[in-house]
Amino acid sequence: MAGFVKRNLLTILTVVGVVGGAALGALLRQTGPGQWDKRSVMYLAFPGEIFLRMLKCLIIPLLVTSVVTAIGSLDLSLSKKIAFRAIAYYSATTICAVILGIILVTTIRPGVGLRPYDDDSTEPKMRHVTTQDTLLDLVRNVFPPNLVAACISQTQTNLIPPADYSKISEDNGTKYDKSKWRFDQSEENTTNVLGLVTFSIVLGIAIGKLGSKGKPLIDFFDVLSEAIMLITSWVIWLSPLGVFFLVAAKILEEKDFVDLIGRLGLYFATVLLGLFIHGFGTLSVIYFIGTRTLPFKVIGQLSQVIATAFGTASSSATMPITIRTMDEMGLDPRITRFVIPIGATINMDGTALYEAVAAIFIAQIRGIEMSFGRLVAVSVTATAASVGAAGIPQAGLVTMVMVLDTVGLPSKEVINIIAVDWLLDRFRTTINVMCDCLGARLVDLMSVDEVQRFNEQDKLNADPH
Ligand code: ASP
Repeated sequence: MAGFVKRNLLTILTVVGVVGGAALGALLRQTGPGQWDKRSVMYLAFPGEIFLRMLKCLIIPLLVTSVVTAIGSLDLSLSKKIAFRAIAYYSATTICAVILGIILVTTIRPGVGLRPYDDDSTEPKMRHVTTQDTLLDLVRNVFPPNLVAACISQTQTNLIPPADYSKISEDNGTKYDKSKWRFDQSEENTTNVLGLVTFSIVLGIAIGKLGSKGKPLIDFFDVLSEAIMLITSWVIWLSPLGVFFLVAAKILEEKDFVDLIGRLGLYFATVLLGLFIHGFGTLSVIYFIGTRTLPFKVIGQLSQVIATAFGTASSSATMPITIRTMDEMGLDPRITRFVIPIGATINMDGTALYEAVAAIFIAQIRGIEMSFGRLVAVSVTATAASVGAAGIPQAGLVTMVMVLDTVGLPSKEVINIIAVDWLLDRFRTTINVMCDCLGARLVDLMSVDEVQRFNEQDKLNADPH
């Protein structure tokens, strides 16, 4: 019993935080409407606000160090073909996960129907944008002109309506010719995730190419990455406290909070359904295309890996078990040690799916229209955010803030999903790790020729005569 409590202390405390915060919020609501003005709610949420600020502060160092380290230490000399297969698998599965998430959340629409904003302070600036502009901005932001500026801003094109334009007349059916609207390119005050991820990938490749000369730099990023992960885990230990105050304040300020809880349940079910379909459907199809066999026997052998991933909510913490299980299954150790560590850092299908669903769910709650361009922007940012998320508990919540930026929502909107995040984290980590394992198996089965060449080379090295 004591061992169980010790192992699961953070989870237990988080649950206590959620339940306690909900109880406090519900109790304070009883004191009568009107007693709790915005300022009082702000005071109540203050410790939670500090917790969110700490999380936000970690985004950039977490993202840059983990991507540079993972890409920089890729052993391309092992075989370019093997590296290509692994990267192709990671990209294909992550893209499928995000698309599936978007299809589910826009079909089930868990957040639609709640009362949108009733005050100006939380309302996002409604922008007028065209799909073309959104897509062009996406490409622009892949190439930031200034790295320091990319940490705090990204390009955003807006259409400026003529002076006599009024939204009311548009709602009444009077159409304005938008081609005559002036367009304005401004720098938005949000982190350019895409630009930073792209630059970190390129930097990682360049450092890797320098060989032994680049080693000190990789070591530097590696140690920095570990230090940042350590800080993140300290901050995550504060989450029970942060969640307690955020949940209490949310319940206090939310007018339709019973409805919100129902919607939260639907959001939870949407992510879970997506993870299930992806884990057992999409991944099986991709595995079948690559190997002409179904993965169910492999999945059956992953019970310990799955249990550890669910129990620790951390891809990185599960890695030793993952590697051992792959060895026991007879995979070539060179492939396992190449595919699994990089997969645990950058291949997070469950996280990508969750990021897309969560951002769109919150946009639905807030009555924000999701144009095609915006959906594409969310899918690209969710992919980048999952690549940048570290393999530690609730790292997805940290990078979630960036996806919210894409839909024009402030970071504090994560409080809409924070109460259930600790549990969803366990499910998405399980899918993240399962996807890495199937990837390792698939690459192993597809690389029989290369493995044979390595073995011959090893034999030759051992006995040159
Ligand atoms: N906990 C997840 C992992 O380690 C990352 C996340 O928060 O989504 O894979």
